[in-house]
Amino acid sequence: MVASSFQPPVRTLMGPGPSDVHPRLLAALARPTIGHLDPQFVTMMDELKALLQYAFRTENRLTIPVSAPGSAGMETAFVNLVQPGDTVVVCRNGVFGGRMKENVERCGATAVMVEDDWGRPVDPNKVEDALKAHPEASVLAFVHAETSTGARSDAETLCRLAHQHDCLSIVDAVTSLAGIPVEVDGWGIDAIYSGTQKCLSCTPGLSPVSFSERAIERIQNRGHKVQSWFLDLNLVMGYWGNGGGGAKRAYHHTAPVNALYGLHEALVMLTEEGIENSWARHRHMHDALRAGLEAMGLAFVVDAEHRLPQLNSVRAPEGIEEAQVRARLLNEFNLEIGAGLGDFAGKVWRIGLMGYTARRENVLLCLNALEAVLGEMNAPIERGVATAAAQRILSA
Ligand code: PLP
Repeated sequence: MVASSFQPPVRTLMGPGPSDVHPRLLAALARPTIGHLDPQFVTMMDELKALLQYAFRTENRLTIPVSAPGSAGMETAFVNLVQPGDTVVVCRNGVFGGRMKENVERCGATAVMVEDDWGRPVDPNKVEDALKAHPEASVLAFVHAETSTGARSDAETLCRLAHQHDCLSIVDAVTSLAGIPVEVDGWGIDAIYSGTQKCLSCTPGLSPVSFSERAIERIQNRGHKVQSWFLDLNLVMGYWGNGGGGAKRAYHHTAPVNALYGLHEALVMLTEEGIENSWARHRHMHDALRAGLEAMGLAFVVDAEHRLPQLNSVRAPEGIEEAQVRARLLNEFNLEIGAGLGDFAGKVWRIGLMGYTARRENVLLCLNALEAVLGEMNAPIERGVATAAAQRILSA
């Protein structure tokens, strides 16, 4: 076989993730690989934990990146906190709540489902009813930012309900972290996982997680061994240390050294910007994109009150082959936007404004490119107004 180096095209990533990666971060990935127990690497790991505490707004000592993508962060939360025979209340308002159910069942536990329509947030009243009806439940699990629909749920209220009913909370913050407020200590979140490829704008493949003292206590007092050797936090803590800096480190697995340089750089950049400014930037870019899309005549799927600024679900115009539009954007403009999933497949586009992607030039590129392609396809849209509507917000 004769193969040559892979040269990816340069795209603008405005789908549901991964998002665009800043050149500074790509440069960090290319720094020399050192040993994963090298004293200088261990110092960097300690800094990485402190940076993740900043991003999660927590003092939790068990705040680390799992060496695998967001799905592994999800599994870490479930396999460590759920035991055979447990009952877990799981909220499902899109694809990822369904994956939580899978995780619970694979732990040998029972999932009590609280269902909400796609595009709607989790309804706290239904959650309260489920918790009252199942006093044996030990965990409440929900997705803060449902990437499949663009809906934000009220994590603070849901975590309060969990505590009132003696449950630990497991929160999926894969799409929310750094894009909208996530307050681990302020909201009393017990276990949270995220992904690096969304609003942190890092390369995919790592999953930041954080666990409260209550959660650590449950992990350390389990009756059954965690079924996953790789994700067993009792073992992982031996490598990452479960306290402050300077803890002794033992080999557990070979950490993805260069990928962790990248995450470190992404988090340094987050501290330079300031997390509140990052939230505000996502909001501002969303407002501009929304103004442009609505001026064009496109309708949002999620109510304004529950909409995620970083994941914009809009309905494709009637009679338009939405996949053809995405293909033309990719081929003619090097612009990736996302397709609808599940019930929304073929009907909805998911336009991401995550991390480094959330910039004015991308908002304008997306509006111009969409208008050009839809215009040529004779879609029923208003022409010549979208960028002006976005500009009014951008220059305000
Ligand atoms: N949870 C949510 C809400 C997500 O959006 C994703 C990925 O898009 C995941 C979990 C899984 O993350 P990964 O694809 O990094 O494994």
